[in-house]
Amino acid sequence: MNENQEHNDQQNLNEDQARRSFLKKLGIFAGIGAVATAGAVYVGFDHEKKKNPTGKKVRVLTADGKLMEVDEAELQKNENAATEELTELQRRGREGLAGKHWVMVIDLSKCRNARMCMAACQGAHELRPEQHHINVLRMQDAEHTEPYFMPKPCYHCDNPPCTKVCPVDATFKRQDGIVLIDNERCIGCRFCIAGCPYSARVFNWIEPLKPANNRVYDIELNVPQKKGTISKCLFSADCLRKGEMPYCTRSCPNGVYWFGDRNEDTVTNGTTKETVSFSELIRKNGGYTVLEELGTKPQVYYLPPKNRAFPFQYEGKTELDPHDSRIGGGRG
Ligand code: SF4
Repeated sequence: MNENQEHNDQQNLNEDQARRSFLKKLGIFAGIGAVATAGAVYVGFDHEKKKNPTGKKVRVLTADGKLMEVDEAELQKNENAATEELTELQRRGREGLAGKHWVMVIDLSKCRNARMCMAACQGAHELRPEQHHINVLRMQDAEHTEPYFMPKPCYHCDNPPCTKVCPVDATFKRQDGIVLIDNERCIGCRFCIAGCPYSARVFNWIEPLKPANNRVYDIELNVPQKKGTISKCLFSADCLRKGEMPYCTRSCPNGVYWFGDRNEDTVTNGTTKETVSFSELIRKNGGYTVLEELGTKPQVYYLPPKNRAFPFQYEGKTELDPHDSRIGGGRG
């Protein structure tokens, strides 16, 4: 063995020992993510060996699922707990609900511009009055037809162009079909706004209505809102996780919204709570999606605005006041 080889071997040995000592340290300090005692579980504590133990033992659950007993004095609050919580919300938010494929049906013949859906949505997502995840637009298809109202959320496209143009993987489609945004990743480039053919996304140009106040960002609720990032309809992913209907769907007084699982072929009306076959509802009522020819495969279907009042009437008037803030900015 020459002198060089000997030197290299010694260096490798030192590096190996340093790595082992680092891994050992990591095992002690980073190994405990949750603490369980007397049936309760506490998340966000670290474990560090102390010289003056109290003698009182607590049982802890390590991050890799092992149960062990440590002295109470050896537990200390992990200042990064909020980060861990955020990471967990991001992880489950990206995964979505297994086996589901959410779909919405909007019955345009029922919409009376009550705008309760908008209010419920804006309240839940802490949006400014001028920001809309769902907007009710006044539409008129042709000169000889009467206007009607059309709620417009994000269509949660099965082939979403918005996610494909994001350079940082901040917006994505989950296994249950919902298209979400992670505002902790969003860099505010607004490529996704340009990529969406349905103008479904909004940008937080100014400080949000409610300050963050150290709240942990919930990717499924998009709250707290963050200046310089994108926001949009989430199909109320937080409600679906709890087994509840979306905010807009259950706040509508007129039976406009149906929501359900495409895999089960069922949708439930948010107002009447009636459950019917999704495919039959679409087939029997001439259901359609917007700009189908683009191949985006929206998961929001519309039932046509049949039984319109001729002439058009809204709150007893045939003409709408263009300055009425309740009238959306649609065509017509
Ligand atoms: Fe994306 Fe727009 Fe489709 Fe929503 S409607 S999934 S924002 S392309």
